[in-house]
Amino acid sequence: MSALASFCEALLPPEAGGPDPAVLAAEVERFLARQPAPIRLGARVGAALFGARPALMTRPEALRPAADALKAVVLLVHGADSMAGEVAERAQLVPPARPDADLDLTRSSEWPSDVRCDFVVVGSGAGGAMAARTLARKGASVVVVEEGRRHSVEEFRSGHPLERFGALYRDGGATAAIGRPPVMLPIGMGVGGTTLVNSGTCYRTPEAVLLRWRDVAGLGLADPDRFGGYLNEVWETLQVAPVPQAVMGRNGQLALQGAGALGWRARPLDRNAPGCGGCCQCAIGCPRNAKFGVHLNALPQACAAGARIVCEARVQRVSSNDVVARRRDGSLFRLHASSGVVVAAGATETPPLLRRSGLGGHPRLGCNLTLHPAVAVSGRFSEPVVAWRGVLQSTAIEQFHERLGVLVEATSTPPGMGSVVLPGVGAELLEEMRHTDQLATLGAMVADLPAGRVHGKQRSLLSYSLTPRDALRLVRAIEIMGQVLFAAGATEVLTGLPTWPRVRDTRELAEAVAAADPKQMHVAAFHPVGSAAAGADPERFPVAEDGSLRGADRVWVADGSVLPTCPEVNPQVTIMAMSLAIAEGIR
Ligand SMILES: Cc1cc2nc3c(=O)[nH]c(=O)nc-3n(C[C@H](O)[C@H](O)[C@H](O)COP(=O)(O)OP(=O)(O)OC[C@H]3O[C@@H](n4cnc5c(N)ncnc54)[C@H](O)[C@@H]3O)c2cc1C
Ligand code: SF4
Repeated sequence: MSALASFCEALLPPEAGGPDPAVLAAEVERFLARQPAPIRLGARVGAALFGARPALMTRPEALRPAADALKAVVLLVHGADSMAGEVAERAQLVPPARPDADLDLTRSSEWPSDVRCDFVVVGSGAGGAMAARTLARKGASVVVVEEGRRHSVEEFRSGHPLERFGALYRDGGATAAIGRPPVMLPIGMGVGGTTLVNSGTCYRTPEAVLLRWRDVAGLGLADPDRFGGYLNEVWETLQVAPVPQAVMGRNGQLALQGAGALGWRARPLDRNAPGCGGCCQCAIGCPRNAKFGVHLNALPQACAAGARIVCEARVQRVSSNDVVARRRDGSLFRLHASSGVVVAAGATETPPLLRRSGLGGHPRLGCNLTLHPAVAVSGRFSEPVVAWRGVLQSTAIEQFHERLGVLVEATSTPPGMGSVVLPGVGAELLEEMRHTDQLATLGAMVADLPAGRVHGKQRSLLSYSLTPRDALRLVRAIEIMGQVLFAAGATEVLTGLPTWPRVRDTRELAEAVAAADPKQMHVAAFHPVGSAAAGADPERFPVAEDGSLRGADRVWVADGSVLPTCPEVNPQVTIMAMSLAIAEGIR
């Protein structure tokens, strides 16, 4: 604790206006308690090292990623804490757009030990919810098993932002893919899966991607004429509409303005958020129940058709007619599925589950992982932007999407949680933090080659080696975003590049990106897919064209894992449509 307090003191010195280091250290410690043991250990070692010798935070280069990671945690805790009042006020400004949904939901502690049904669906996220609804509507008896718990709108309205963050993400939000650079990869966990925390952005799968899946992967389901029908159905279920100007906020407006000045193609994003009030809290659960995750549509519709959900139950193993799950107290229960099992645990959890079930024999299972890696850039404006008043993800700049695979989206963070991008330490950092209301932030994702892998059996372990092509694209994305921000009137751009963190004009921006070392970049990702890819070639694809797992009988996969490549856009609509297509095909 004292090492952590020394680190906090060096990072945010009280004499320069920083918080009480002991109080902040205690808060950080409480936050770390939710993280997995290796993260806690890493944080403690880092605190001991940098707390004793603060100069090591900036040099040598080799230690910078570790210092940055610990700095990010401390700033996240401090920022979320100091803005908790504003978060609560905006969360409670108006009543929810709709009540929590009616679900036939039972906690595993109250679930009987032996239950029979036709199908078990593992996972209640984007893919699982659609599969459950489709099968239930066909008259099958369906049980959905979900590891996470149910979250209510009341918790989102009254909970502390850090509590919400810690409760909604797997491993308290600390998931990462190992590599150079490492990639932060938060994954949602709860009834509704990652749709509980996503930004609500909706894209139809680009036709070029579908043609590639049909013609190169041999995935007949992806034929644009056929898949278009499934996309329409998802679009309707999610009640997708463009972001209204009234709630967009200045972050999105500046992105449109900057792109407009450059003559680049840009527009308000399509989102599944009917009734959105622009409170910028999507990533920690929508306090208005406006964001229309599957817990508010496909899951209640599945339950209306007879499906049941058991939550707080981690599936240990599956077979063609049997599922064994573990309650939180460690006890096991069994589900007999006479017609089969649909695995939809998400791209990072499905391969380990299949392995520990003895169904992981295909050599390509866990390979082929794409992440849609992302970088962020902020622009400083002379007037307040207050990026956290408005929709979290609001506008798209699509000028470089088809040609370069770079999709830019104006993306803010929940109030206070954006300070993690600020450069510097000590008095310099505190000065930056006093002016965060003048920052506008853009994020860009790059359509990547499969460069990742999901290892492990009991726990997943992720690795990702950014390819030289995609590294160049990420660097180019930083330049594109900087150009947009300058065109919108930014006086300074924070590049996110540790070696050249701030630039004052486009000439300096070009120099900074030319000198960038991709291995040192801060990269995050939100869209892992492809780890149990579906396709025609039995050698290359662990999953067959109809979604059935090769080498198993009556086991299907229907989540992000089955996409053969990166879909090149935010994937929730594609995953739901694919799951719908697979479940439709199950007799
Ligand atoms: C912060 C963030 C923002 C995002 N924003 C967008 C966006 O704006 N637009 C968009 O299109 N996409 C977005 N995404 C991505 C999108 O939400 C996901 O791609 C999508 O939800 C994945 O669907 P899935 O069914 O594969 O997995 P998930 O939705 O993650 O569902 C998998 C579920 O399975 C459960 N599970 C896992 N293992 C087990 C087990 N062993 N037993 C029981 N249950 C298990 C998990 O707890 C989880 O609930 C975002 C993601 C994040 C993290
Ligand atoms: S910005 Fe996000 S969290 Fe806020 S109301 Fe809209 S959808 Fe909900």
